[in-house]
Amino acid sequence: MRFDVLTLFPEMIEQVCSHSIVARGIESGLISVNAINPRDYTKNKHKKVDDTPYGGGAGMVLMCQPYFDCFDAIDKTQESEIIILSPQGETFNQNMSVELSKKSHIVFICGHYEGFDERIKQYTAAREVSIGDFVLTGGELPAMCMIDSISRNIDGFLGKIDSAHFDSFSDGLLEYPQYTKPRDYNGLKVPEVLLNGNHQDIDRWRRKQQMIVTLKKRKDLFDIFRKNCNNKDDIKLLNEVISEFKL
Ligand code: SAM
Repeated sequence: MRFDVLTLFPEMIEQVCSHSIVARGIESGLISVNAINPRDYTKNKHKKVDDTPYGGGAGMVLMCQPYFDCFDAIDKTQESEIIILSPQGETFNQNMSVELSKKSHIVFICGHYEGFDERIKQYTAAREVSIGDFVLTGGELPAMCMIDSISRNIDGFLGKIDSAHFDSFSDGLLEYPQYTKPRDYNGLKVPEVLLNGNHQDIDRWRRKQQMIVTLKKRKDLFDIFRKNCNNKDDIKLLNEVISEFKL
């Protein structure tokens, strides 16, 4: 998977990519992340990439020329996915992350200041994506959030030890509570079921906990799971939860 990121702040991308599991993915050759600076493509003698908005108003707007030329310089195919980061876009989620992890090339276009000249969206025919209903100063953090999440869904990116299989959202439920040593810390104890070595009991407890955690934290997701649940074992556990919580 190749990620190309158009950004006025390439160091932000390079910094994040030099740590932890993303760095390991790059080192292994499974993913590559290239930060490309539209400022390197500006024809303006002062290296300007932004200007004041037509019609007046505060802030600076990113100009067409450096972004068009930078975008054109990227090696693309029909299969390339083009994403422009914007708080106005469709909201990124785990389903979109899994969908995008099947691609072989994604281009991210990061904004800054007041955002883009509208014609940049038109020219690149990009999919507009937001990471949530809040406004950040630039698209670099959203791009890195997406790259991190998409990469986790690429086969082989996570070792067995970091498996994404039971992660929150992977099958519509949040993850069960996790514990590690010691079994008693200042009187706070690990649930007995996790210590008895009976894997059937542990699996059952974890699955039920997933339902309870989701019910308590994300009733919207729980309701969808309840509506679509058709696995015999899940239905049994779901009925226990429904009865215990008097739903
Ligand atoms: N004036 C724009 C608006 O109100 O829609 C916001 C511009 S924002 C200050 C600058 C840039 O940060 C945007 O062009 C976008 O690339 C990025 N950005 C900010 N919030 C974002 C979000 N929630 N999701 C994705 N990108 C975001």
